[in-house]
Amino acid sequence: MRIEHDIKLGFKDVMIRPKRSTLKSRSQVTLERDYKFLNSKTNWKGIPIMAANMDTVGTFEMALVLAEHHLFTAIHKHYSTEQWNAFLNAAPKNITDYMAISTGTGKNDTKKLKTVFDNHPELKFICIDVANGYSEHFVNFVQQTREQYPDKVIIAGNVVTGEMVEQLLLSGADIVKVGIGPGSVCTTRVKTGVGYPQLSAIIECADAAHGLGGHIISDGGCATPGDVAKAFGAGADFVMLGGMFAGHTESGGELITRNGEQYKQFYGMSSATAMDKYVGGVAEYRASEGKTVEVPYKGDVKTTLQDILGGLRSTCTYVGAERLKELTKRTTFIRVAEQENLVYGG
Ligand code: 5GP
Repeated sequence: MRIEHDIKLGFKDVMIRPKRSTLKSRSQVTLERDYKFLNSKTNWKGIPIMAANMDTVGTFEMALVLAEHHLFTAIHKHYSTEQWNAFLNAAPKNITDYMAISTGTGKNDTKKLKTVFDNHPELKFICIDVANGYSEHFVNFVQQTREQYPDKVIIAGNVVTGEMVEQLLLSGADIVKVGIGPGSVCTTRVKTGVGYPQLSAIIECADAAHGLGGHIISDGGCATPGDVAKAFGAGADFVMLGGMFAGHTESGGELITRNGEQYKQFYGMSSATAMDKYVGGVAEYRASEGKTVEVPYKGDVKTTLQDILGGLRSTCTYVGAERLKELTKRTTFIRVAEQENLVYGG
């Protein structure tokens, strides 16, 4: 047994120090980024914020709206091949620049992935998603997927440490998804004691990835637009959001009306709710590692989107970053013992 004594930080432990700036207005800030991915050698341009591949968030309806604004959606893995056909046959052509097809590492997952790609070679992104990205089986799967799809952009995760980011990039991933336990409906840290504070995970993993020419996604733990700005400030190339995109018209999950108030169901992909729905319940050898909650209905996601992008532009003006690309090098985090003033509620 060993103890690491240097402190690891989450979003709530820091703020961004303002800096002298020549920017007059947040309208001068560009949030679009241009990336060239390490192994697929593909170029991408857009605003690097992503809807999570959860069935209540990463829906086709969400992708249509986010793509209009050049944001990305990791589509959840539970759509059938028929649903993929129906959607892609009717969707605008450029939608495939802003969406990934998600997959697990099982035999059926591989088969379905192949069928969807056979029908739709225009799809460009694959998101290989497992709760624990440290297993040898997962690394082998990433390697095989790279061999099978040399030109596709491969997203792989989740991990939280630099050495595993390097291993996944060297095994064929273009973008590594970073985050174990920070999610709003995640109970991994409670059920297993395993995790890593997200801000430190981003800083360490971004450093490892950028050293090799790879990219990372900060996945989970953002509860406010300020957190999204901190994730980019720490070095994330993309930021993935679950809870912040839940509860909208475009989100999945049942709309519930109670005492005149409307709510939408939101749950973790390892929650008992998700396992009941897709695999006939929680298997005997495992515990559920996700919560099921009801989120107050927030209307169309477009309004939330403006709130997030407006906040991020404002962060950039506070530190004098004319482009999102400059945010990391203009970020100085200060460690804090307080965040917002809660006199009138959170
Ligand atoms: P959020 O933005 O809501 O804080 O976090 C979203 C992320 O939480 C997802 O992208 C995914 O990585 C993670 N997540 C989703 N469902 C579950 C779950 O049931 N258990 C765990 N441990 N993590 C989950």
